[in-house]
Amino acid sequence: MASDAIVARYLKRGGVRIYRFRVETFPGHFNNIYLILDGLHSTLFDVGSGLPDSNAGLDTAMHEMQERFGESIRLEQVQHVVISHSHMDHFGHVGYFVRDTSAQIYVHELDARVLQNFEERIVLASKDLRVFMERSGLKPQARNTLEEMYRFSKSFFKSIRVDRILKDRDRIINGYVVHHVPGHCPGQICLQVDEVLLTADHVLSRITPHQSPASITPFCGLELYLASLEKIRQVPGVSLALPGHESDIAELAPRIDAITAHHARRLAQVLDICREPSALVEISKRLFGERSGYTRLLALEEAGAHVEYLFQRGELAIANLDQVASEANPVIFYEVRK
Ligand SMILES: [Zn+2]
Ligand SMILES: [Zn+2]
Repeated sequence: MASDAIVARYLKRGGVRIYRFRVETFPGHFNNIYLILDGLHSTLFDVGSGLPDSNAGLDTAMHEMQERFGESIRLEQVQHVVISHSHMDHFGHVGYFVRDTSAQIYVHELDARVLQNFEERIVLASKDLRVFMERSGLKPQARNTLEEMYRFSKSFFKSIRVDRILKDRDRIINGYVVHHVPGHCPGQICLQVDEVLLTADHVLSRITPHQSPASITPFCGLELYLASLEKIRQVPGVSLALPGHESDIAELAPRIDAITAHHARRLAQVLDICREPSALVEISKRLFGERSGYTRLLALEEAGAHVEYLFQRGELAIANLDQVASEANPVIFYEVRK
């Protein structure tokens, strides 16, 4: 059905049209933004990063939709803006809708704080990240670089007001169902519009959604993520899944199976690596190879989520417990429990 075109249209029962806009939100990084038109309501699901190119991409896609499909709606007329989760590539442009339009803004209760108290969140998250990086065994210089990068990447958003705080199973707008699926992000939701499930970053067609430890961000972590995958598998009557990146998912269940199997393999790999006492920085390197820049932090978080999962189950133990007991925040070495 939909290809790599900037705009794709999905026609659904009862005249519902769902448009997918493919927008470059960061250089080389593409998001799917969805516009749902059901005859009564116009709803945008995610808005892009807010960078000038991302905003221009959204404008271009709106124009293309108007020309190719004869829709007359303009961006400033959209009535509802639903944020799938509080990652910048998905919500960064929301300030425009708060300031310059009369759209209502919706976000899950566990991600509302990020949008409403953004500055506070960055300060605290940076501190938790520092502790995590120290324990992981990253050298001070690498830590400083990553921390600066983290703060900078988040420095161009200003807190906004939210109109509607979402909870699991809420029915919003025109009966669209909110499914809370924490793991990739605390307030991650999927939005169900009849038989279509907008999966955002919970289920993607090719890559496995990024994981980070709950020790940095509560309500993240592999434990909740895997439970949320099973939860979404049980949603009845879904005939098409539309993700926040990459292409559509015709069959959700096999994709969920593949993602689950991927994490099982990765957990086994971590156990294998930890037959020798290993710090997170080594585990990450063994899993993902040498990474640089921001992807180094992402790799470290991904590895950390798997280590945390095993540690909480008692499958990994701390190899240098005496040192951890006596020093402020030393590097932690993990080993398979003997
Ligand atoms: Zn995300
Ligand atoms: Zn994303």
